[in-house]
Amino acid sequence: MFNSGMLFVLAGPSGAGKTTLAHSLVDKLDGVHFSVSTTTRPARGEEVNGKDYFFVSKDEFQQRIEKSYFLEWADVHGNKYGTESSWVRQQMVKGRSVILDIDVQGAVQIKEKMPSAVLIFVLPASNDLLRKRLEQRNTDSGKTVEKRMKAAAGEVSFMGVFDYFICNNILAQAKIDIESIYLAEKMKIQNIGWPDQALDYHSGYMDGLSFWAGKRIVVSSGPTREKIDDVRFVSNRSSGLMGVSLAEAFLSAGADVVLVSGPAFNMKPPGPVRLVKVESAEDMLLSLQKEIKDADLLVMAAAVSDFAPVSSVTGKIKRQGNRLNLDLEPTVDITASLNSSCNVLSFALEYGDDAVENARLKMKRKKSSFIFLNRGDKPGIGMETACNSGMLLFASGSEDIEIPLGSKKFVAFGITAALGREILNNG
Ligand code: 5GP
Repeated sequence: MFNSGMLFVLAGPSGAGKTTLAHSLVDKLDGVHFSVSTTTRPARGEEVNGKDYFFVSKDEFQQRIEKSYFLEWADVHGNKYGTESSWVRQQMVKGRSVILDIDVQGAVQIKEKMPSAVLIFVLPASNDLLRKRLEQRNTDSGKTVEKRMKAAAGEVSFMGVFDYFICNNILAQAKIDIESIYLAEKMKIQNIGWPDQALDYHSGYMDGLSFWAGKRIVVSSGPTREKIDDVRFVSNRSSGLMGVSLAEAFLSAGADVVLVSGPAFNMKPPGPVRLVKVESAEDMLLSLQKEIKDADLLVMAAAVSDFAPVSSVTGKIKRQGNRLNLDLEPTVDITASLNSSCNVLSFALEYGDDAVENARLKMKRKKSSFIFLNRGDKPGIGMETACNSGMLLFASGSEDIEIPLGSKKFVAFGITAALGREILNNG
């Protein structure tokens, strides 16, 4: 089954040996590609336009910033450098991994936009060694070396944002280290989709998945936060894992996926999934309105707060007196307000004997084509857990489908495939 490409970001001070390490990985392994950055710095010595960098004027760089051309960009030692967004995403959609050799500011921006990116920090064995390497480059004047040494201390202070550290003391060892990181990441279940070898144990379970190839899917995920003041909020219990798992399943099926997520513990969809971060139910509605325009399916996996404070306070409400009364009002009904023309999969968390009936009523009320019923009264499944099970109900009247207990990832693949089968059979 389709494997999504991964994004590796190598950062650390100039002279740490990032470029050599990045190219060693690209040369050694199939399916890993180097992202050529764009810069306003003039070409040095043997550098070739299009191979080492794309060299552009300051005006051209500025225009590209304004057109959102860059996934990240930064001012480094007085020149601008940036990574082209569309090239990186296209590679990853094709299942290719991409390696970036960029500065620390850029790496921090990538972590924000694409939280599943793998950040690797590279340093030589000592700062004396770094100084020697910069001096030996012959491209930098004494003044530039001093400037870069000072900048190095600043870069190290951001190391805590990174996932891995490589000490580039002995180059041969550093090459083994980076290859090991690549291999470990490649074997992570999140990056594999659902392996064919595992499918053999559940034959038929994934039939229908391929229906989603080339379709555009919008998944809402996580809780929303309704502001009381700048520190406190009203919210729902939700880890965001079900939404991320559904995004992964649709991506594996070959769909173009956008994940609109409230502030969830789990907001790490695979790189090719575009992540839109939102806070409140109002924010989520606005983002979904923009995103669902050409969508084939909207998945409402978000646990949207049903109530929000009538008014909120700027700053922090002081703790005083014995009581604080909160006036709450219902939040906007997102699915009803969207009134979308595409199919909608809703989720229902229901308790007690009437659970199935209530889920069916909710499907009708929300004008959804499908609803996934989660039982709130079954321990170990649903909210803030790793596993799930439930029942898929169809507005068409097709027979309900029981989705058996498994990881949320397994359940997400089951739902995605069952929806594909339903549309193929019943339009
Ligand atoms: P140099 O001018 O020596 O080639 O690179 C200077 C610094 O800019 C290095 O730390 C390099 O990693 C960083 N850099 C190169 N390309 C990019 C990029 O696209 N984005 C960011 N943020 N930094 C970059």
